[in-house]
Amino acid sequence: MAKIYRDDDVDMSVLSGRRIGVIGYGNQGRAQALNIRDSGFDPMIGNRADGYKDKAILDDFEVHSISRVADEADVILLLVPDEVQPQVYEEQIRPYLQPGDVLSFASGYNIYYKTIEPPEGVDVIMVAPRMIGEAARSLYRSHLGFPCLVACADDSDGRAMPIALALAKAVGATRFGAFESSFKEEVLIDLFAEQMLWPGIIKLCLLYFEKLVANGCDPEVVTTELHLSGEFVQIAKAMITHGFFGQLKLHSQTSQYGQLSRADRMAPPQLLAYIDEAMQGIASGTFHEEWAREQANGKPNLRRLWQRALEHPLAASEAKLEPLRKIVAASYEETA
Ligand code: NDP
Repeated sequence: MAKIYRDDDVDMSVLSGRRIGVIGYGNQGRAQALNIRDSGFDPMIGNRADGYKDKAILDDFEVHSISRVADEADVILLLVPDEVQPQVYEEQIRPYLQPGDVLSFASGYNIYYKTIEPPEGVDVIMVAPRMIGEAARSLYRSHLGFPCLVACADDSDGRAMPIALALAKAVGATRFGAFESSFKEEVLIDLFAEQMLWPGIIKLCLLYFEKLVANGCDPEVVTTELHLSGEFVQIAKAMITHGFFGQLKLHSQTSQYGQLSRADRMAPPQLLAYIDEAMQGIASGTFHEEWAREQANGKPNLRRLWQRALEHPLAASEAKLEPLRKIVAASYEETA
């Protein structure tokens, strides 16, 4: 079992006298910077002049250029999107790195695929929240915390992991638990969810919608049943409160029998072959190469896929239910 670090396992003194720099003020950047400040540190923020910079100023941060933060900070959190990190790193960070600096990533992507290769003497660590930024902030404020994966590229001198853990505590993760991991494990877990689990759920939801509508059911009734009712969310919550299988007992026996007897039929050989192919593509880097080509070509396929998604009848049905969706969304925001 992975080693799990909690608040009491962490020595915060390893960060004393070290300037923390947060580069990027987006989803993770804003949440982590605010949490770090509320943990008693004074992070420098590095961002280009735009809306994210304005937001940081509104949050009472002084905002500097990325290269100034790279130059002055000793512990640098790189929190811009993975796909732009190599260029930002090459042009605005690498020239300013000094031996003894620490470069921290919130995902394993660019280290695993070697698109960023920091120089000798720079400690490379990962503090990867398993949580979207907004929730990382609200869970910090409610003292619940959130899980994260921590790793270091090389801890032969024993310096890097204590800093990763101190950062994990400063952002609020060790209140829940920081799991000792690796850059590779983070990539596999993250991309496999994105290429197997979530697309599987999306496709099954669309097939559910299409088949029921083809059988005469009202599209808006089906859309409400599918996600707007919140039953999906309640089942996911019950997986936490009653256990992954335990929550099945909250359903009727007809439902339990239907779910358990049909689950095995949902993995035909072709799907199992795709699952192997997806894992292979992630581990070997062929997916990374495909995505790099797509970006270099201006992302035409991503645009096409978005357009096709928004043309699905489910989107039209959801649009008709927009007033109801807004009411439901507001009640979710109130309880968040
Ligand atoms: P965002 O898309 O929210 O990042 C936006 C920030 O990046 C803004 O500050 C933006 O500033 C800056 N930025 C974007 N492009 C550039 C560029 N070309 N040059 C300089 N700055 C740029 O990123 P995330 O917070 O989603 O992701 C950050 C890291 O966190 C990634 O490694 C990601 O894998 C990881 N992560 C993300 C999670 C999430 O929930 N989103 C969850 C866990 C980990 P500007 O306005 O100047 O473009």
